Amino acid sequence: MTQSLVLVINSGSSSVKYQLVDPASGDALASGLVERIGEDDGVITHHYGDRELEHRGPIADHAAGMRLAFGMFEESGQSLDGVCAVGHRVVHGGEVFYEPTLITDDVVAEITRLSELAPLHNPANVTGIDTARELLPDVAQVAIFDTAFFHRLPAAARTYAIDAEVAQQYGIRRYGFHGTSHEYVSGKVAEFVGRDDLNQIVLHLGNGASASAIRGSEVIDTSMGLTPLEGLVMGTRSGDIDPGIVMHLRRSADMDIDAIDQLLNRRSGIKGLSGVNDFRELRKLIDAGNDAAKLAYDVYIHRLRRYIGAYLLELGGVDVITFTAGVGENSSEVRADALAGLGRLGIEIDAERNAVRNHEARVISTEASAVTVLVVPTNEELAIARAAAALVVG
Ligand code: AMP
Repeated sequence: MTQSLVLVINSGSSSVKYQLVDPASGDALASGLVERIGEDDGVITHHYGDRELEHRGPIADHAAGMRLAFGMFEESGQSLDGVCAVGHRVVHGGEVFYEPTLITDDVVAEITRLSELAPLHNPANVTGIDTARELLPDVAQVAIFDTAFFHRLPAAARTYAIDAEVAQQYGIRRYGFHGTSHEYVSGKVAEFVGRDDLNQIVLHLGNGASASAIRGSEVIDTSMGLTPLEGLVMGTRSGDIDPGIVMHLRRSADMDIDAIDQLLNRRSGIKGLSGVNDFRELRKLIDAGNDAAKLAYDVYIHRLRRYIGAYLLELGGVDVITFTAGVGENSSEVRADALAGLGRLGIEIDAERNAVRNHEARVISTEASAVTVLVVPTNEELAIARAAAALVVG
C-alpha cells in the first residue's frame, strides 16, 4: 500500500468519529464512531466496504476507545501502514491558527490555551490529538481549524459593538465555525456552476447550523460568532438570543454560569422547544398534532429566513443559495419553507426537483428562477484529508 491515506479524527467530549480517506480518489475506505466514552456501555461501530464490526463494553477513555478502534482496522484486514497523515478537526483556532498546521508540542499547548474560547470542544480535540500521537508516533499529525475559513471576515462583520479594550483583552470577536464545510461546499458550487465569481449563500443545516455569505472566494459574513452558539436555531442550541436573558437567569433564577451554558448549548433550540432534536422525530410530533413541535419548526424557519434575507442584502443580490448537512441535504420541507414566497426576489424552488433524494449535488430551483438553488452534500472528512495530505506531501 502506498503512503497516501489520511486518517481523519474528529474527537468530541464523549465520542470520537474517524474515517480513513484516500484524498486522491475521495473514497472513504473505513469509518467509525466511538460512543459513550467513560461509560460502562461504550459502543464502537466500524464500517468498511459494506460491512460492519461492532464492539460493546466499557470504554474507559479516549485512548482506550481509539486503541480498540485501531484494532478493528486490523481485524477487518486494513492496515494503517499506508497512512501519511492524521488530520484532526479542531474547533477553535482563535486569532492564531488559520492554516492547516503541523502539530507539535507548542501547537498542542496553544490549542489547549484556546480552550477558554471553546471549553466544550478544544479540550476534547486535544485528547484526540494526544491519543493519536501516542498510537501513531511516526505519522505526521495535522490540525485543521473550523474557524480558519472565516479568518478574513471584514472588520464590520467580525466586530462586536462592546467596549473595544475589553474585547481586545479577551479575544472577543466573531470567529465563525463549520468553516471546513462552508469552504468545501462553496468550492463545489463554483465547480458545479462553472464560475468562481459567484455571490453565494451557504446554509449548513445539521445538528449545529450556520449560514455564510460569500463573494467570489471571500467570506463576507457568517452566523456563528465567538462560539458556535450564535446565529441560527440548532438541534440543542438557542442561536441568537438577547444577552439580557443571561443576566436575567443569573439574577432571577439564581442559575450559575455553567447551568446557563448547559441550558443554551444543550437544552435549547429545537430540543428546548419540542423535547426532540432530530428533525425526523420533530416531523412525527408535528404530524401527531403536537403544538410545541410545530412552534419549534416555525421558530427555526423564521430565524433561517431572517439570515437569508440579511445576506441577500449584504451581498447586493445572490447567484446561488445552497443547502447542505443532515437537515439541508435531507429535508425537502425545510428547503421549501426556507425559500417559500420569494418569487419576486427571483427565487423559486421546483417541487419535483426538491423531492429528489440522492447523494449528488443537484439543482432544486426552477428553470425560470434567477437564483440557482442547490443541494450539495458536504464532506468535511474529505476536505480535512486533502488539506492534511497537501501539507504533508505537498
Ligand atoms: P449533521 O449534524 O449534519 O450530521 O445532521 C444531523 C441531523 O440531520 C439530525 O439530527 C437530523 O435532524 C437531520 N437529518 C438526518 N437525516 C434526516 C432526514 N432523512 N430527514 C430530516 N432530517 C434529517
